[in-house]
Amino acid sequence: MQYLGKNRLSVNEYVKGLLEGDVVILSKALSLVESHLDEDQVLSLKVLNRIFPKTGQSLRVGITGVPGVGKSTFIEALGLYLVDNGHKVAVLTVDPSSQRTKGSILGDKTRMERLSKSSGAFIRPSAAGNSLGGVAHHTRESVLLCEAAGYDVILVETVGVGQTETLVRTMVDFFLLLMIAGAGDELQGIKKGIIEMADGLAITKADGENLKPALQAQAIYENALHLLTPANSLWQPPVFTCSAMKNEGIDKIWKSIESYISLMHENGYLETHRQEQRLKWLQECIQRSIDGHLEQKLHDSSKINHLRKEVKQGKLLPPQAAAVMLSKLF
Ligand code: GDP
Repeated sequence: MQYLGKNRLSVNEYVKGLLEGDVVILSKALSLVESHLDEDQVLSLKVLNRIFPKTGQSLRVGITGVPGVGKSTFIEALGLYLVDNGHKVAVLTVDPSSQRTKGSILGDKTRMERLSKSSGAFIRPSAAGNSLGGVAHHTRESVLLCEAAGYDVILVETVGVGQTETLVRTMVDFFLLLMIAGAGDELQGIKKGIIEMADGLAITKADGENLKPALQAQAIYENALHLLTPANSLWQPPVFTCSAMKNEGIDKIWKSIESYISLMHENGYLETHRQEQRLKWLQECIQRSIDGHLEQKLHDSSKINHLRKEVKQGKLLPPQAAAVMLSKLF
């Protein structure tokens, strides 16, 4: 195989490998789209352009919940269930809060040990990035690469820390919120906004002593959801209980996701939703590009630096300085 640079391949090699479902090439392509080097970005765009017609066919599911709720155990159980039912499953993680190192990449794999050994599954740990927007951008591209490589279910895992959910919501077809039964104060500390974003809720660890509180939590959330505005007016988000450890309730959740998808496919919502998501991505790309250019231009000019200093010292009003800067730049 001909290598371009250290780990880089030619566009043809990436495309061929991806379309053949070669997981080594898929990993390399994922690293390429995550790279910050300009030359990698150029190469990455060429690859993405070529595979673009072969994408979009998967079912994209976002899964979120606070650390410890049981996300990786759930994803492993769901992933194995899907593989058993003939699907090819890719798991992508969005976790901008931890700039994961190689050590924790291993950690991620051992978190889902059985799934990672399955030939029908591919697990990619958190995309690194120094901004939430950057991570989201890579994840969108990663979804396309996995689709080109033949994965028909993409599970996007995200830690429940606010902003990330909002972004992940804009790249998936179904958004599942995992919750844990608490000591009678289920609604405490849970952001209403996140619940409103969900297309479905699942109370995890519904086994042993936790079964009763889980069923109580289910009733509480069902009531709460009736009072909230659902993310989609055509769908009342269901609340499930499940035990990933005992492998109970996983099939029911998946069947509900499938009914959601077929209903939304029939009424056209799915395609409208994806169209909106593509436009959102476009808007993000434009914004990123403008921010980058502007940052560089503002950084390079001594006149601008002088104005910045004046602002910092309180000698010039920021709106005044901004007007002068922009008039100089454009
Ligand atoms: P994450 O941080 O959200 O990915 O959570 P993990 O999947 O790592 O699970 C956190 C803890 O909950 C671990 O100790 C799991 O063994 C436990 N756990 C996960 N799922 C279940 C379940 O279905 N039942 C029980 N009893 N424990 C579970």
